[in-house]
Formats: sequence, structure tokens, C-alpha cells
Amino acid sequence: MKQCILLIDHEQGEINRASYELLSVVDALAVQEAIDTKAVIVSPNPEPLAVEFSQFSGLETCAISVPDTCVNHTTCFKSAFIEWFDGSPFHYLIACHSTMNAELLPALSVNLKAACITSVEAIVLDNDQLLFERSVGGGKLVAALESHSKQTLMTIQAGAFGRPAQSMESDPRIFKRTIECVEKHAEFIELKDSVTDVSALKEAKVIVAAGRGIEEEDNVKLIAEFADLFKRSAVAGSRPLCDIGWLEYNQQVGVTGASVKPDLYVACGISGMYQHTAGMIESGYVVAINKDTNSPFFQIADICVAEDVTSFIPLVLGEYKKRKL
Ligand SMILES: Cc1cc2nc3c(=O)[nH]c(=O)nc-3n(C[C@H](O)[C@H](O)[C@H](O)COP(=O)(O)OP(=O)(O)OC[C@H]3O[C@@H](n4cnc5c(N)ncnc54)[C@H](O)[C@@H]3O)c2cc1C
Repeated sequence: MKQCILLIDHEQGEINRASYELLSVVDALAVQEAIDTKAVIVSPNPEPLAVEFSQFSGLETCAISVPDTCVNHTTCFKSAFIEWFDGSPFHYLIACHSTMNAELLPALSVNLKAACITSVEAIVLDNDQLLFERSVGGGKLVAALESHSKQTLMTIQAGAFGRPAQSMESDPRIFKRTIECVEKHAEFIELKDSVTDVSALKEAKVIVAAGRGIEEEDNVKLIAEFADLFKRSAVAGSRPLCDIGWLEYNQQVGVTGASVKPDLYVACGISGMYQHTAGMIESGYVVAINKDTNSPFFQIADICVAEDVTSFIPLVLGEYKKRKL
């Protein structure tokens, strides 16, 4: 049986949503061989989070307590782990693909002389060999990598594996460690809010989001007019629309944009790549309008409208005006 350690991220006293998805990564690894998994949380006050994660996952969870100054500090985390791994051998170490982990895991892999694969989006079994896939070339190509090392460290893209169901176990199993960090070549000063203000999206009850399927910049007005039909609504969009300047970056939803939870999310001409859907998957009710019935958005939407968005929305607006008269 292979040993696996999940590194659980947290922010402002809450476990990151993407950390739960690491459990689905373990399921993907287990298609080849049974996996014995433990989780680890590092924080100045790790116990409440360790209890919460252990209750959700049913996994034994190690609460590593570190000084306040170690928060967001790669070198401190690195020394904490090197010390801990001494007594906890593993085949896989899995973490979310965050700025810190994308720095931490490669650094650890150098110390451990282990393989490190970052930004993994899928794991496939090919002729009895596990392949780890990730996007390259800005998402135009998919690279498949194979690990030739006894230990493999990997970071996982948020949204790529989906959130698993809660375990039936309810008694938390936690064990505690305290680690003093000595190695320090840089100092963590403070955590600041991002300059991108996504508050309009976070507060909206209804979000109408536009994708490349709207075809022309002028159609952003159409999307805005449609959004105006709803109270407390906002216009959002996919990353390509922000990249070409049709929308502002504070309107982008997805792994590199905002995470939103409106009551209603209407996706207009958006394909539904996980990099987008990861940011809206917790929406209450989802409507997708797409002329391609095979669009991935149709897999997760509550209502799928197989229409040309550029003619469907004017029809809805026209009908609405008629009924209001
Ligand atoms: C590291 C990384 C991070 C990323 N982060 C994000 C992110 O945060 N947010 C994000 O959105 N993307 C992100 N992306 C990009 C993501 O992978 C997709 O490329 C992007 O979401 C696609 O946008 P889209 O659906 O608007 O365009 P497309 O993929 O081009 O899809 C357009 C859709 O519109 C449909 N369509 C076309 N014409 C019409 C019409 N007239 N009527 C109805 N439907 C029509 C098509 O069938 C298609 O499904 C990221 C990519 C990478 C590699």
C-alpha cells in the first residue's frame, strides 16, 4: 500500500475549498493501488482546522503548530516538513496549486531528491502507469508526465478534480506536533487584500456571465441589459473576454479570477472549462446558454439552453418588454 500526505491550505481561519478536492486526487491515484492517506495542517493554531478536516474526510490529520512568524513563509514550512517527514515516510505529497505551494513543493523535492509535478489537472492510468496531466502553452496543449521517483510531490489546480462527498466517519483523529523553525533567509511581513476589487460579484445575487460565444464586444451591452432584468445582479465573464479588454479583470470568474456564490448564475456562450467553473461551482442555480450541446457547461447546469446566445437574449428581452406593457 502506498502512503500519501495531503497538505491542507487555509486562509483567515478557514480551510480553502480547493483543499477538499485533494481527497478526489487520492481517489484518482487509488485506481492503480490502495492508498493510505494522512492530512497535515500547519498553522499557529492548527487544532480546530485539523478537527474540521478530519471530521469531513475521515482521515487522521496532523496539526503542526508553528510560530506566527512562519505563516506564508516557504522556508519555515520547508524546515517544518523536513523534520516531520523523518518519522512519516510517504510516496505522494499532494497540495493545492497556490503561490506558496508552487514554491514549497519544488524546494522540498530538491531536499528529498523526489519528483515534483506542479499544476496537475488530471491523473490517468495508461498501460498500468499513472500519468499526470497539466496544461501548457496557455492551455492550448496538455502535457502528460510520468514519475520515475519513489516519492512524488504534486500541486493540484483548483477545480480540476471536484469536491468529494463527506466521509461517514465523524470522530476526528488528530495528532499534534510543534515545530520551531530555525532556517530563515526572508521574513513574512503582512498579508494584504488584492487590489482587484471583486466585491460587486461577491455581493450579487444574480450573475450573468459572458464568454467568447457572445462573438462581438457590442454584445456585452446585451448581456448587461439582460442582467438588469434581475435585482442585485452583476455582469461577469470568462478570462478571454477580460484578456481582450471587453470586460474588466475584476469581472473575471475562475481559478485566476473571483470565486462567486450567487443564487443564480447564467453562463452565456461560455464553454465551461474547469478553470472557469471552479469559480462559480457553488452557485445556487445554473443556467447555461450555448449553441454546442456538447459544451462541458451543460454537464453542470440545471437548465441548458441550446441556442445562439446572440439571438436568444434579444428574444428574451423582447418578450419581457411585451409582457411588462
Ligand atoms: C492557468 C490558467 C488559468 C485560467 N484561469 C481562468 C479563469 O480564471 N477564468 C476563466 O474563465 N478562464 C480561465 N482560463 C481559461 C480557460 O481554460 C478557458 O480557456 C476559458 O474559460 C474559455 O473561455 P470561453 O468559454 O469564454 O471561450 P471558449 O472556450 O472559446 O468557448 C466559447 C463557447 O461559446 C460557445 N458559442 C460560440 N458562439 C456561440 C453563440 N453564438 N451562442 C452560444 N454559444 C456560442 C461555444 O460553443 C463555446 O462553448 C485559464 C486558463 C489557464 C491555462
